[in-house]
Amino acid sequence: MLHIGCHLSSSKGFAAMGRQALELGADTFQFFTRNPRGSKAKELDPADAAALVELLAEHRFAPIIAHAPYTLNLCGAEEKNRAFARDTMSDDLRRLEFVPGQYYNFHPGSHVGQGMEAGITQIAEGLNAILTPELHTTVLLETMAGKGSEVGGRFEELRAILDRVELSEKMGICLDTCHVSDGGYDIIHDLDGVLTEFDRRIGLNRLKAIHLNDSKNPPGSRKDRHACIGEGEIGLEALTQIVRHPALRDLPFCLETPNELPGYQREIALMRRQAEP
Ligand code: FE
Ligand code: FE
Ligand code: ZN
Repeated sequence: MLHIGCHLSSSKGFAAMGRQALELGADTFQFFTRNPRGSKAKELDPADAAALVELLAEHRFAPIIAHAPYTLNLCGAEEKNRAFARDTMSDDLRRLEFVPGQYYNFHPGSHVGQGMEAGITQIAEGLNAILTPELHTTVLLETMAGKGSEVGGRFEELRAILDRVELSEKMGICLDTCHVSDGGYDIIHDLDGVLTEFDRRIGLNRLKAIHLNDSKNPPGSRKDRHACIGEGEIGLEALTQIVRHPALRDLPFCLETPNELPGYQREIALMRRQAEP
């Protein structure tokens, strides 16, 4: 069975997200670990986290995805920005130990004119500073659209980061369909070719989750504007091939489409139908 869910608000706590996911027909979901633009996290309630752990097990959820605030930048130009990103990510990982065995996804960063090589080095150094052997969370680098000075728009860049992380076994990749299409990978006409390229550059065994989004822009636009399923340039047919692909179909799929909850519920049901041959 397809594992699919959507991005949910964490404002009512952990267990409330699990219940919300069940109501939407989801068996995975994603949430921001704190305000996506801000920095302050709410006090963690261990009983609430334990209730979510129980719900996930009882309903056989696929791994869920905690998403780091997208303003963090492990390769910011100033050390104080890099330190802030490291401290925030460390704190997120500490808190996620209360919901062990899940994924922590983050945007690799923007090198802000320092150059791709410097950016990759700083991201790997940041990860080496925060990863520990005791962690029960797998940290995912998200594939990016490559807008501005974003690192991670090319598979080679993600591979270069992984190569420099000492505890590389704690790391994986989350593939965002809008981002890779905007980044110039032709998942519409040549999904097999893109996955072969991914396997050659990174290794498909590293691929742990999919952000399932349509795109408002054509392939290669480097824009990163998500569209609802079937309403964008990728289209329902290509997205159906993605959820059905033998190399992908057992992964957790997470919608980040511009929807309220009823829209997410419809898209979850739609993709569950589409996934059946
Ligand atoms: Fe993201
Ligand atoms: Fe994404
Ligand atoms: Zn995006």
